[in-house]
Parts: sequence; C-alpha cells; structure tokens
Amino acid sequence: MPGTNLTREEARARSAIVSVRSYDVDLDLTCGAETFTTTTTVRFDCAQEGAESFIDLVATSVHSVELNGEQLDPATVWGDSRIRLEGLRPENVLRVAATGAYMNTGEGLHRFVDPADGEVYLYTQFEVSDSRRMYAVFEQPDLKATFAFSVLAPAHWQVISNQPTPHPVPAPQRVRADSSESIEVARWDFEPTPRISSYITALVAGPYDVVRDEVATRAGTVPLAVFCRRSLRQHLDPENIFACTKAGFAFYEREFDHAFPFAKYDQIFTPEYNMGAMENAGCVTIVEDYVFRSKVPDAIVERRALTLLHELAHMWFGDLVTMKWWDDLWLNESFAEWASTVCQAEATSWSHAWTTFATSEKAWAYRQDQLSSTHPVAADMVDLDAVEVNFDGITYAKGASVLKQLVAYVGREAFTAGLRAYFARHAWGNTTLHDLLTELEHTSGRDLNQWSRLWLETAGVNTLTPRLEVEDGVIRSAWVEQSAPPQWPTLRPHRLAIGCYDLGPGTLRRSRRLELDVTDELTEVPELAGQPMPDLLLLNDDDLAYAKIRLDPHSADTALSSLRLFTDSLPRALVLGAAWDMTRDAQMPASDYVRLALRALKGETDSTQIRVLLMQLSAAARTYVAPAHRDELSREIATSLRSSALAAAPGSDAQLQLVGAWAGAATSADDLERLREALEGTAPIDGMTVDQDMRWTLLTGLVSGGAAGAEQIERERSRDNTAAGREKAARAMAARPDPAAKEEVWRAAVEEDTLPNAVINAMALGFARVHDPELLRPFLPRYLSVVEELWRTRTHAIAEALAVGFYPAALADGELLEATQEWLDAHPDAPNGLRRTLSEHRDGVARALRAQAADRPRRSPG
Ligand SMILES: [Zn+2]
Repeated sequence: MPGTNLTREEARARSAIVSVRSYDVDLDLTCGAETFTTTTTVRFDCAQEGAESFIDLVATSVHSVELNGEQLDPATVWGDSRIRLEGLRPENVLRVAATGAYMNTGEGLHRFVDPADGEVYLYTQFEVSDSRRMYAVFEQPDLKATFAFSVLAPAHWQVISNQPTPHPVPAPQRVRADSSESIEVARWDFEPTPRISSYITALVAGPYDVVRDEVATRAGTVPLAVFCRRSLRQHLDPENIFACTKAGFAFYEREFDHAFPFAKYDQIFTPEYNMGAMENAGCVTIVEDYVFRSKVPDAIVERRALTLLHELAHMWFGDLVTMKWWDDLWLNESFAEWASTVCQAEATSWSHAWTTFATSEKAWAYRQDQLSSTHPVAADMVDLDAVEVNFDGITYAKGASVLKQLVAYVGREAFTAGLRAYFARHAWGNTTLHDLLTELEHTSGRDLNQWSRLWLETAGVNTLTPRLEVEDGVIRSAWVEQSAPPQWPTLRPHRLAIGCYDLGPGTLRRSRRLELDVTDELTEVPELAGQPMPDLLLLNDDDLAYAKIRLDPHSADTALSSLRLFTDSLPRALVLGAAWDMTRDAQMPASDYVRLALRALKGETDSTQIRVLLMQLSAAARTYVAPAHRDELSREIATSLRSSALAAAPGSDAQLQLVGAWAGAATSADDLERLREALEGTAPIDGMTVDQDMRWTLLTGLVSGGAAGAEQIERERSRDNTAAGREKAARAMAARPDPAAKEEVWRAAVEEDTLPNAVINAMALGFARVHDPELLRPFLPRYLSVVEELWRTRTHAIAEALAVGFYPAALADGELLEATQEWLDAHPDAPNGLRRTLSEHRDGVARALRAQAADRPRRSPG
C-alpha cells in the first residue's frame, strides 16, 4: 500500500511513458470553512499505447473521473492518493472533479482566520509533494507542464498565483454554506504558466494588502509586489524589501547571464508558515515573522535579506532549470544558499555575510554531519518519505560550504562561466548534478570526478590540526594533520588558508597569510619553517575549507585571552567555532566554554555572533555542563547576563538580545523582580523600548521562573489580540513550571488533533523551556509510547513538530539515553524518518553525556 508515498522507481517508470502538456485547474473557494471544490483537466501524451499509469490526488472525495470521454467509477480507480489510468492513448484528456480539504498544518492549501479582524487568508505550500492536495497532478519534478488556474473567490480578495493576476470578473452571488449570509464573488482566470514543475505552482488568496513597484530587467520592466495581511500592514517595510530584491535582480542577471524568466515577481508574507520561505515561480511565500512588528536583532534583519535573495536565486536555479528527481534537492538548496550569500556580500550593505555564514550555517552543517544519520551531500532519495526528512544541515549548509570550497578549487571565473553555460543549455528543462559538473569541467579544465566522489558522495567532516615544532620562539617544522572519524574514514583535498596573527597594542592583527592544498593525512607547510612562531596560528583562515579546526596550545591561550583584540570578525568567529567544536567533542570542559562565551559576549557587536553564542551558551549550560556544577553555573550565567544586559549600550542590538537571554536564564527572586519592573515600566532599562514582543519575552521569563502565571498571560493575550499574540500566549502557558500545566499542553498538542502548526510549535517551545528538567520526566515513557502512532497518523509537518519538539531532551541523562536506545532496538520497522529523528535524539544525549564526563573546569579568571 503506497499511502501517500511515491518511489523514485515509480516516478522514473511514469516519466518514461508520460509527458504532460497542460493543466486547467478550476477552484471554487466559496464553499465554506472546511473544503473547496477542484476540477482539473489534464492533457498528456503516453509513449506506449494501451499502457497503465496513475495520477496523484489527496482529496476528501472524488466526484467524477473522465478519461478520453469515458466516465470511470471513482470508487474503483481512486485509492491511496492515486487515480489509476488504464488503456492510455498517444494523446489523452483527463478530467477529475473532487472536493479538497483546507489544511491547518502548513501543507497543501492552508486556511487561516485572523484573530484581529476575522478575515480569512489562504496560501499554498506544495514542496515536496502537496500540490496533489489542491488538484489532480502527476506529482514529480520532471513532469513539467503549463498550468492555468481559474479561481472563484470572495470579490474583495486578492488572488495571486504564478502568472500576473488578471482582472476579476463578477460572478453570481453565493450563499455561504456555513451561514445564510450571501457573499459577492468573482472569478479570476489566469493565463497559463510557462512549463514548470507542480511543486513551484502556487495560489495565495485573501484580503491581503499590497505595495507595488517594478524593476528593470533584461527582458523589460518586471512588476514587483509585496503582500501581507491587512492587520500587519502598519509594520511592513516595503522599501527595504524592494531595495534588496532589486539588488538581487541586477546581480543574478549579470552573474547568470540570463534574463529573469517569469512575468512578474510577488513576495507574500503568509501566516502559520512552516519554513522560512518558498520559491514558487514568480510568487514567493515568506514566513510572517519577517514582518517586524517589534524590534528584532539585526541578525534577523540580515537573515530575512538572505532569505529573499535565496528565493530569488531559485527563480533561475530550481525553477527555470529543475532537478530531475529529489536526489539533487541538495544542489537546488545549496546553490541558493551559496548564491544568496555571494550576492549579499557583494551587492548589499551586508558585506560581512561570509562571517555570518561561518558562524551560523557552518555550525549547523558540522552538527548535522556528526550525527549517525549523516549522509553524503548527494543523497540517495529512494522515495518521498526520505525527501521529507532531508531538508537538513547537509542539504542546505554543508552543500553550500562544499560549493564554496568548489569555487575556491576551480576559481570563481571558471565557476561563473560554467553556470552561464548551464543556464543557457538547460533553461526550462530538468537536470542532474552530472549536467552541472560537465559544464564546470569544460570551463575549468579540471576533472571533477574524483572531487565529486570525495566531497559529494561520502559523508562526514574532517578535522585539521596544526602540528608544530617550535624552539626558542622559532618554528622548526610545521604540518597540518588531517583526520576523519572511524565510521566515515574519507580524507579529502582541502584548499585552505593559514593566518599568522600577532599581538600589538590593543590589537591582534594578521601579519601573514598563505594558501595551500591539504591532501593527505600529513601535509607539510615548508613556508612556515624558520619563521618566528606567531602569537596565534589559525588554520582555515578566511573559512574556505569545510573542516573542524583545532588550535595549538600556544594559539589557544592567545585566542582565549585576547579574543576581543581581533580586528576582523571572521577569525574571531572561527576561533569561537573551534572552541564550540572542542566542547562538543569533550575536549574542552563545558564550564570553561560557558565562561568563555560569557566573556566573549561583553563588547561583542556582531549580531549573529551574539545570537549564536547565546544559543550555544544555553545548550552548553543545560546539557553539556556536569550536573554537579549546573546550579552554580546557572546562577553565574544569570548574573553575568544581567550585568552585560544592563551595561549594554542603550537601545543597542546587544541590549535587546542580552535582555532576552537574561529573561530566559533568570530564576532568583531579585532577577525576576528586576525583570518585572522593566515589564511594568516602574524601572525601565536604559534606552530599551518595551514593545509587544519584548513584553512577551519578559513575561515568559517571569512565567518560567515561577513569578507570573495564567492570569497575567490571559491579560497580555487580550491586550495583543493577534496571531502572534495567540502563539506567544500558547508558548508562555506551556512554560509554566508546574506539572498540571505541562499535562495540559501535552493533552492539547499531542493527544488532540485540532491545533494549527504554528500553535503546536509555540507550545513545544514552551513545554521544553524548564529550569528544572524533572518536570519533563513523566513525559519520557509517554512520548516513547505514542510517537510512532503520531508519525503514522499526522501529516508530516505536524508529526515532525511533535517528534522533535516534545522529546524531553533537557533531561540529558543516562535514563534518557537508555530509554531512547531501547525504543530504537524495539522498533526496527518504524518509518525511516521517525527512526532517524529518534537516532538523532539519541546521538544528542550521548554527546551530552560525554561532554558532562569531560566537564572538569579549570577555573579561568572572570
Ligand atoms: Zn531554497
């Protein structure tokens, strides 16, 4: 029984005989709050007369199926999300009429009601395989076709799709199914799209507000628009969004030497969105958190710009030229990550984008690559279930790091020339990795076979360690040692830089840089022999390579004592990254790391660095620090964050982030009282605006510290009657440090199946937020007994949110490790994606226990 799965073999067999000409999709969105009607007419060819195939459809009911003029019985041909098609002719016309269900999970056609004004907002999210929740479709990326949508909807709505929105035509009034009210309706008939894959088709509808602009392109003037819900319009900053978008248009058209391929470019901020954004052709949907209703860290503003540029890059790489099958999802995503970072660094004011890449993207890649579930970048996606769980740190961040390394390897010019040839040759088609490598080999003259085998077809991360012989302050010999973990023993060619840094008055400045290829287990660096030993020697300076780096003891001392003296942010980020790796590898006591991070925070101005340090600090304190010093260290952290927060420049980004972190760490009566004064305005924090989101941050801190409860949350909720307010309130309620409150959230999110994705995610965050992990102990056996059923009965997005978010990771002890391992041993036949999630949980706990065992701090000066 295939259920909703589809294997690569089935997809191959289908596209071997089927080619699709066009879809006409007719939707009626005026039928009520639960369902819509959908009628699809598909014209397709079949290369094998009389053959059998199938089309995909997830629906509530199917009313009629007509193939080449013949009515088929839906009860016979529709099952397991497929409609069986027999006796195909060279040219076929299929017509399917069905009722589809609105979703509240962020998959398919999502329906949301705005608590602020009662308005209904719809949007679609189809990747990986949810266009079949809106219309009958051959759901695989290599069956491209044209799509013509026709939509009946309330007349006051905006209706947005891949093609420019046509003028609506008034239609006869409708009486709503769920009340006797009649509504004005209209019909929007969109022009057919160019030939694209179904996963990038889209429909967005509702009384969205809009701001319009345009951009000059090689293909003429292209209309731009930004949409958001009415109640968010006052917070939208369209000038920034358009400026970033235009910079991206100019950059990509030049780099790719190919005109923007679609007729217009809309960017729509959509509610209850599961991811950052989605590259629907000409109709990009973006998570609403990126409409800033309160002050956010600069890191988030920078991240939004990167996201906008990432989706825009997909218009060429992904939408114009599309992967044949999901095996090359990594190439699609990694390319967009790499291209958007280059664009951000070179064409916008965020010139330090590669530091951010090192601090956050690479940390994500290294973490993912050291889990037992890691896999080669070029993954083997045997079916859709495997794809769903692969939107991970390998697919995005490691792939992008490896592309960065590839650019260093073949040279930027050859890389760009190869890309241009690739777009020229494959526009509107489907490709595999091989097609890109062919072009790059041609332009660079390098054989990329071996490189691809070592970098893309094997998993795991190498560690690079300097081996130095130093006498009287002079380097006698210098080597770089490369190692690999036993389960992934591949050594690789690394193009990398070595930086020599020396202390001067108030600075730690690079005095020398050399670039070399590290290929074997030991690579000699003759250029360093006979040179004075620098104060700090940094492997992988400039972050060209994808590898964990270690510092020699002398350099480590300099780094730890003089971290603030680096004149550039990238080497500081690399040193902090190395310290974090060593902590995770149980080579640096977690308590030492916590104290290092607390010191590093003082005076740090790089917003992403602050953000990442705060997250790592919290993770280390909760799970890597030995239980014996956890309480003492927690107090130290709260005290240090308080003093840093109160000392931060008034109104600064650091102040904003540090106050938030302090609120998260505060448990003492004194701290909680001070936070309450800040919330109530009786003792403001100098220069800090207590806007709505800061109110929630402070209140949630008070709640998890036991100094506020349900009554205050309810009060805040009625003050902030918005979608965000609903989510923040759910999160705060779930953070109450009391067994009955945890029980309540467990029942609502896990045992009942009614809440939307965004509320479940918010509850999971609150549930996990405990100062006393014992609160979660009773849920360990309950989690393990129910998780498989959840995985089998909920949609993928919800199942994943529950399996990840409600695992009691904060326990971080031997009992948790054992119970998780027992579950894995007892469930060899559980779905692969679920086994993978539980294995990753298990790996995290095992790593935490190793770090705890190594946590024998050498007390460092404060
Ligand atoms: Zn993407």
